[in-house]
Amino acid sequence: LAKVIDGKLVSNQIKDEVAGEVAGMKEAIGVIPGLAVILVGSRKDSQTYVRNKKKACEAVGIKSYEVNLPEDSTEEEVIKHILEFNNDPSVHGILVQLPLPRHMNEENILNAVNIEKDVDGFHPLNIGRLAMQGRDPLFVPCTPKGCMELLYRHGVEIKGKRAVVIGRSNIVGMPAALLLQKANATVSIVHSHTKNPEEVTRQADIVISAAGVANLVRGSWIKPGAVVIDVGINPVDDAESPRGYRLVGDVCYEEACTEASAITPVPGGVGPMTIAMLLSNTLESAKRIHNFK
Ligand code: NAD
Repeated sequence: LAKVIDGKLVSNQIKDEVAGEVAGMKEAIGVIPGLAVILVGSRKDSQTYVRNKKKACEAVGIKSYEVNLPEDSTEEEVIKHILEFNNDPSVHGILVQLPLPRHMNEENILNAVNIEKDVDGFHPLNIGRLAMQGRDPLFVPCTPKGCMELLYRHGVEIKGKRAVVIGRSNIVGMPAALLLQKANATVSIVHSHTKNPEEVTRQADIVISAAGVANLVRGSWIKPGAVVIDVGINPVDDAESPRGYRLVGDVCYEEACTEASAITPVPGGVGPMTIAMLLSNTLESAKRIHNFK
């Protein structure tokens, strides 16, 4: 049976490491890392994410700054706040909570973030550098970085292995595939137009699934002994849960457990890693800006 890759445990280890370094930095040079979060509109899920990010910052000693703008704000107003944070020396990371309201151009807004403070790693320059050989981005997007960190910390060998990423979104699938390739895996990408996806996934020593489709990946899709990282977070009806639903990944967990050598559960796998990576990116940024080793 597959070993369970415990994202909660690993994320707590990383948070402890970040907290230690934040304290050390404050003591040595008097600098406290700062993260600014810009939220536009009043989506409940986005509000929850922003609240969790703030709480996580507090827990490790990172200072957080928050701007809430109304749904009908203009692009210029959002950009004005970004530019202020770009120029604010107490802010080392700037995060614009996505999705933005439909009337805004996401690229214009993400472009305004100083790449030195782009802790989400969504600036086109950072993504471009991630795609280029011999170049490194200043920041790597948090969710795919969390997937890689789980692989590293579980001693999974990546070099020379076959990896398959399911999904090609800008925030998860595409950067995950680029990261695996940078780590010298041979990478295939499966997406909504792929015919016979199971023929591709069955080749893979490492599967990262980020499709957002419950029960997409069956046990028969998994090569025996593969490592499975399930990024999906999908609500499914559940009359027994007080909320009327529960969250599952993209992978049929029980089926995959009998095939894989290791697997992330949902919840408690990749989910907690995303915020841990955001904290670690913010610390990294403060260290770089202040030339602190
Ligand atoms: P998205 O909808 O932007 O992208 C989904 C991708 O999957 C697309 O590229 C699409 O081509 C592909 N896809 C869709 N249906 C498919 C199918 N049947 N077969 C193969 N490929 C298919 O989603 P996203 O933002 O990348 O998120 C993906 C999932 O990961 C969601 O469940 C989301 O909730 C979850 N997620 C989790 C975290 C986290 O753990 N912190 C962060 C971001 C997203």
